[in-house]
Formats: sequence, structure tokens, C-alpha cells
Amino acid sequence: MGLQIDQFMCRSDNFGVLVHDEASGRTALIDAPEETSILAAIERTGWKPDLILTTHHHADHVEANLALKERFGLKIIGPKAEADKIPGIDETVSEGSRLDFAGHRIEVIETPGHTAGHVSYHFPDDGVAFTADTLFALGCGRLFERPAPVMFVSMTKLAALPAATVIYCGHEYTLANARFALTIDPTNSALKERVAKIEKLRADDKPTLPTTIGEELATNPFMRWHDPAIRKNLGMETASDVDVFAEIRKRKDNF
Ligand code: ZN
Ligand code: FE
Repeated sequence: MGLQIDQFMCRSDNFGVLVHDEASGRTALIDAPEETSILAAIERTGWKPDLILTTHHHADHVEANLALKERFGLKIIGPKAEADKIPGIDETVSEGSRLDFAGHRIEVIETPGHTAGHVSYHFPDDGVAFTADTLFALGCGRLFERPAPVMFVSMTKLAALPAATVIYCGHEYTLANARFALTIDPTNSALKERVAKIEKLRADDKPTLPTTIGEELATNPFMRWHDPAIRKNLGMETASDVDVFAEIRKRKDNF
């Protein structure tokens, strides 16, 4: 009934994720960062992918598309807005697209900002979402192709998911994000406790992901534009939510 999920490292700090439905034997890969690490994960789990769900066009998310397609004959789904940059793409999705993965519903959420067409994949019945380079643990993606107000809307959509939603991200950036978060939200005790846990995990060479929407709402400065203490710290008590978000993003760029 439930989905089985296997997260593994690729390249230096990318995550690969295999999503498996035991009853049907079907497997989806969320992005394809690197062929060798993915093949090792397939070997270890025995889960042969028949589908790639692509979040965005960056090389560290699509590099293994063609090699895996050739090897497994899998189907590649990705955002319509960047289909021309996604190798081997078979089917495109956009805001509100609904997919079925072995009876598991998938809802596509457009989350532009990092790239113009970035999408996130939400499995509402399984309580899990894959946000790649939009929402990170304690962070958000760099704004390469769209400005802060666009990313702000993307973050508000993710913030509206149920708090218990489990979030898988594209990179292990959490420790660096944590150091920055403490400069924005230094009096947040939930954040301080979380940073201590993150430091321990990284010291043990363990991943800090997945996270949850609830945990991010409590500790991720990029989801806390409404918070009075953060606003006071920034001297932006009366600013709009989007301006607070944009200021935090700007400070992170210069951190
Ligand atoms: Zn990226
Ligand atoms: Fe990336």
C-alpha cells in the first residue's frame, strides 16, 4: 500500500531518490543527478526504475537521463516550461497536472524561481513531496531565472501543504543553511535545537533530509516572513511578506 522511498547521495551534495510501489513493482526516480550512484542504488534496492520525474533542467538533475533511458527504457516526465532543456523528455506537466504512479496520486505544483519552470511533485495520499531546488531544509534555492516575488509565491504554495508532509530536497545544504538561519532568527529555540541535531548528523556523515513542512514552518527563515521576531531583527516590522522574503534571500546571497 505505502510507498517505499530510498534516498542516496550523488555527486558531492545532490540527493537521488527512488520511489517504489511494492505491490506493482513499479519504481520512479526523482531526478537523475549521476548515473553511477543511481545504478548503485538500483542494485542495492533491486528497484528498476520505469519513470523519471524531473524537477528542473539543471545538469545536476538531468545528467543521467539518456543513459538511464537507454538502459531501462524508462519514461521521462518534466516541466513543460523547460522541456526543450530536459534530455529524453517524453511527457510534460504544469501547474495542477495530475499523474498516477501505480495507484498513487501525484499533483504537480509549479515552483519557479530557481529556474523558470521548476516543478515539485506532491503525493497527497502518501504525505510526501519532492521539492528539489525550491525548498531546502532551512533554505530555499538560489534565484537563477526568476526574481524573489516569483519564488515567494512558490514558497507560499509549499507552505500551504499539510504540516506532516514529508519533504525530500535536491541537495544536502542544511548545515550551511543552518548557520545563515541563525543570523536571521537568532532567538528561535526550535531552530537552535534543530541546528544542534543537524550538526550531530553531519558530524556522523548522516543526511539531514527528509524534513517536513511543519518543521520548516517552525525553523526555516524562508518560510517565516510573517514572524515578528524576524521582522524586528531585520528592521522590517511593517514591510510586506514578499519584501521580507526578498530581503532574507538577498542576505543569504551575500552570506
Ligand atoms: Zn538546480
Ligand atoms: Fe541542483
